Amino acid sequence: MRRKLAAGNWKMNGTGKSLAEVVEISKDYMTSNIDILICPPATLIERMARTAVDSAVAVGGQDCHAKPSGAHTGDISAEMLTDAGATHVILGHSERRADHGETDADVRAKTQAALAAGLVAVVCVGETEAQRDAGDTLAVVGAQLAGSLPDAGVTGGTVVVAYEPVWAIGTGRVPTLDQIAEVHDFLRTELVKRFGDAGERIRLLYGGSVKPDNAAEIFATSNVDGALVGGASLKATDFSAIIAAL
Ligand code: PGA
Repeated sequence: MRRKLAAGNWKMNGTGKSLAEVVEISKDYMTSNIDILICPPATLIERMARTAVDSAVAVGGQDCHAKPSGAHTGDISAEMLTDAGATHVILGHSERRADHGETDADVRAKTQAALAAGLVAVVCVGETEAQRDAGDTLAVVGAQLAGSLPDAGVTGGTVVVAYEPVWAIGTGRVPTLDQIAEVHDFLRTELVKRFGDAGERIRLLYGGSVKPDNAAEIFATSNVDGALVGGASLKATDFSAIIAAL
């Protein structure tokens, strides 16, 4: 059985006062039979980890550099994330692929760095609307999956894969449940082909306009093991409702 995971991606949102939301969620979930993760901006990781200590809420980064240290102004290494209290890191989010030109090879190198530092890597894949309209969805996400995951170290405990259609992120538009199932079943098959039993244990999250009112039906869909939630993770009431639907 794969343990469910509700992951929040705060993106470039949140300052110290936003930690009040985490206080609420931590109170609601001192213990939990599912995994709960919030990935704030780097400036909040350490404070959030303190805020969530002794609760079921884990804290993660939104990116890391592929190198362990060096002359890379503005970047953060995987070890720095763990040092700040993070246990997970989102890698290859479509906003990073678009805004920073990250390639599958970059994401793979970052994933290796994250695994070496003991972080769980939440690796994102997803097609654009033009790619879906062209009928290329499975080819695109299949290539991203193949290129973004390293050969070594990938297990159910070290890697999570998030399917996030680019056109569904922040738009309020969600694929049909059949479309989600088609991609998740495909990703599962590809993971098992490549990683054997470990491929069965890797969690597959859906992301893109997950809200309290659509979470339950998405979570009931084939091979959906949880969600990566952007906008609706910023408010404790919304994120708690999504967690409760898992
Ligand atoms: P959204 O973002 O929930 O605001 O659509 C999801 C994501 O980008 O991870």
